[in-house]
Amino acid sequence: MTPRITLLAGGVGGAKLAEGLSAICPPERLSIIGNVADDQEFHGLWVSPDIDTLTYSLADLIDRQQGWGLAGESHRVLAGLERLGCDTWMSLGDQDIATHIFRTQLRRQGVRPSAIAQSIAESLGIGTKLLLPTDDPLQTRVRTDQGWLAFQEYFVRERCRPEVREVHFEGATEACPTPEALEAIETADLLLIAPSNPVVSIAPILAVPGIRHAIEKSLAPRVAISPLIGGCTVKGPADRMLTAMGYRCSNTGVAASYAGLIDGLVIDSIDRTDRTALEAEGLQVMTTDTLMTCLEEKARLAEETLAFASACRRVEAET
Ligand code: GDP
Ligand code: CA
Repeated sequence: MTPRITLLAGGVGGAKLAEGLSAICPPERLSIIGNVADDQEFHGLWVSPDIDTLTYSLADLIDRQQGWGLAGESHRVLAGLERLGCDTWMSLGDQDIATHIFRTQLRRQGVRPSAIAQSIAESLGIGTKLLLPTDDPLQTRVRTDQGWLAFQEYFVRERCRPEVREVHFEGATEACPTPEALEAIETADLLLIAPSNPVVSIAPILAVPGIRHAIEKSLAPRVAISPLIGGCTVKGPADRMLTAMGYRCSNTGVAASYAGLIDGLVIDSIDRTDRTALEAEGLQVMTTDTLMTCLEEKARLAEETLAFASACRRVEAET
C-alpha cells in the first residue's frame, strides 16, 4: 500500500516534484499544500502564481519552456490593457486570465479560496488534493534598498535584482490554517518538503499558525529535497535569500532553515561532501541526481525520495 504523502511545495521547483509524485502515487494518497503568499491582485483579478503553477503542471498544461503559465498562450488581453495605459509587467496569458476571472468571481461570492483551488484542479482533471495552508490573506513582502515591495514586484517587475534585507509575511499572525492542510499533515505517513525556495515558498506555509506545530508533532518521517545544486539554485534567488536571512548558502543552510522540521535531506550527488556536516547535525542524508528536466527524472527522484523517507528514522520530537 502506498503511504499517505503530504508535500509542502512552492511554484516551479515544487511543481516538478509534485509531478514526479503524482506519476507514481495513486491520487488519493497524495496531498499537496501550496504557497499562497505570492498571490496578488492584477487588473482587479486575484492571481495565485504558485497554486497555478502546481495546477497547470499536474494537468500537463504548463508551458514547459518557462515552467509557469499555460502552453500555447496568446496575450491579446494584456496587449489591450497596455493600450489602455495599464502596467503589464506581470505577464498573464489569455487562457490564464480565465482562471483568474473564475477565481476572483468565486472569492467575491464568498467561496473559500481553498475550495476554489480544489475546484480548478478538479476541472482540469487533477485527482490529487491541492490544499491551501490558509484561506486568509497572507502576503510576502520583501524589504530592499527600494523599500518594501510586494513579492511579485520584487520577483517579476524587478527580476529579483534588489538585494533582499528582510522578509515579512503580512497577515501570518492572524491567519487560520485550513482544516484540510492540518489534516493532511496529521494523517500523513510521510511528510515531504519540495526543492522549493525555503525563504519565500516554504517559510510562508510554515508561518501560518498551527502548521509548523503540526509538522513538529507528526510522527511521520519528514524529508526535504534541497533546492540547491553545487551551492546554487537551478533558477531564482533562493541562494541569495538564504544568505540574506543569515543562513549559509549551502545544504547546511537549507537544513538549518528547516531545523526541527526534518529528519532527512535529499541532496545532489555533486554535493556529496556535505553529508558529514549534515549527519553531524543529526540528519539522515540521501545523495542522488536532483536535477529534474523531464518526467522520468521527476518520477525517479520522487521514487527514490519515497524509499529514503520510508527508511528514515523519525528524530525524537522535543517535548
Ligand atoms: P517558485 O515559487 O516558482 O520560485 O518555485 P519554488 O520555490 O517551488 O522553487 C524554486 C526553487 O526550485 C529554486 O531554488 C530552484 O533551485 C529549485 N529547483 C528548480 N528546479 C529544480 C530541480 O530540478 N532540482 C532541484 N533540486 N531544485 C530545483
Ligand atoms: Ca513562488
